[in-house]
Order: sequence, then C-alpha cells, then structure tokens
Amino acid sequence: MLVFDPAWLPEEVEEIRQYVDRIRGTRHLFLLFTHSDYDHIIGYGAFKPDKVFMSKAMAENPDREQCVENCLAFDEQYYIQRPYPIEYPKGDFLVFRDGVQYRYGNTKMSFYLTPGHTADSMMVIVWQLGLCIAGDYLCNCEFPFIYHSSVEYEQTLEKLPRIHDRNWFTRMVPGHGDPALNINDWLKRRTESQAYLFALRESIATGVPFDEASLWARYKFPRLQRKYHLDNIALMTREYEQGLWKWDPDFELTSPTLQESYIADIPIVETDEEG
Ligand SMILES: [Zn+2]
Repeated sequence: MLVFDPAWLPEEVEEIRQYVDRIRGTRHLFLLFTHSDYDHIIGYGAFKPDKVFMSKAMAENPDREQCVENCLAFDEQYYIQRPYPIEYPKGDFLVFRDGVQYRYGNTKMSFYLTPGHTADSMMVIVWQLGLCIAGDYLCNCEFPFIYHSSVEYEQTLEKLPRIHDRNWFTRMVPGHGDPALNINDWLKRRTESQAYLFALRESIATGVPFDEASLWARYKFPRLQRKYHLDNIALMTREYEQGLWKWDPDFELTSPTLQESYIADIPIVETDEEG
C-alpha cells in the first residue's frame, strides 16, 4: 500500500490511517513524501510504515527543524492537539537522481527530482496505476509557489513531457486541488504555470506592470495567495539582480495567448479554438 503526503487535520489523518488498517491485510505499507513543506509531513507520526521514500535532499534538508516548527505553529494557531508526535520523516529509500526505480512484487515506481517549488521536491510515477504524484506542481488552484528557484522551477516544467514519454502516466495528482485526469488537462496547467513564470520575469526585467487582476480571475484565493505572489516577485527580483536569468524579449511560449494574459497593456486575444 502506498500512502503519499498524508494530511492534515487530525481527524483526516486518522481517517486515512484507519482506511489503511482496514484494507491493508498482510501487505507492506510504504509512505512517500513529495517534499518537506509542513502541510505534507504533518501526518507522518500517525503511521508505522515498512519503508519511507523521499528525495535525498529532503533527508538532508538543513531546515528540517523549521518544517517541524511550522507544523507546531499551525496546530497551535488552531488549538489542535494530535494523538501522535510531530516529527520530521526519516527516509529509508532516498532518491538522488532522475529515473530511479523501485520494484516490489507487482508494484513498480519511478522517481524524478523536481526542484523549484522547494529544493527537495520529487515526483513519483506508479506504473500499474498510470499515476503521477506531482507534489506541489500543476495544482489547478495555485499558480507556481516558488520557494526555491524560478530557474529550477522552469526546468522542472520543461522536464515533464520527457517524464511522461518514458513512463506513460494517464493521471496526475497534485498536492492541492483536483487531479488532472488526462494529458490535455495537465499540459494546460503546465502552460499556465510557464505563462505565469515568464510574465513575472518580463514584468521584473522590463518594468511593465504585472496584471494582478488577470491572475485573480484565474486563481480564486487572493486573500491567501497574494502573499505567495509577492514573495515570488521578491525572490525572482533577487535572482534577476544576481544574473540567474535573463529576459529574452523574442521568447515565445507555445501558447502566446496565455503568456500575454498577465501583462497589463497587451489586449487579450480571444480564440474560438475548441478541444
Ligand atoms: Zn509545498
């Protein structure tokens, strides 16, 4: 049995744990973490897994104490007490490069490092189920939250079609929001993420205002997410000043309409295209 990032209110974690116990039988329990953000590790202590999977970078995360601290701060903010301890996950299987595979019985998984959101993010493909567990990428309710590096975030997005071609997953489950149930759905999310990234770069490099209204027309949670948008601007401005990326005005996305939608003084072109 595979359990990914179990979260996050105590009753929800307990529900997952009971479900696992109910149907597990004599099977092994594998716990997998896509990255070390607190909302993904907060349920760790409720399980007794046979094996824990994570990236090597997550196992060696120098800020692991801060991750635990963030869990505790969340619980205290909402007066939450849990029947299990909050701990940083201990890994048994550590992914250190792309394409690493793990086979056990009829289960085959492959792992890919996907830094950008955090330095320690990874994706997991479960072959028999045609499933890609994406971590905090391609969420339909979130534009890219870039805590680590916009350059690596971009490379992770570029890598996705290659991961798909080698593994043929049909469904993609992100860390937040709805699963993408077909290739067009996750490709569209990927284009939207790229569009956001490049529009932000253009805005930072050229001073053209970024059209926040368009952002909030697409993503519906500005009271929460504006902070993440402003943090992205701060991080990418620092990157720009350090010369980590350059703006190429001739750059074109495969879907230019999306790229233009966040830049204020370019009119949005409506298309009639279907499908
Ligand atoms: Zn995250």
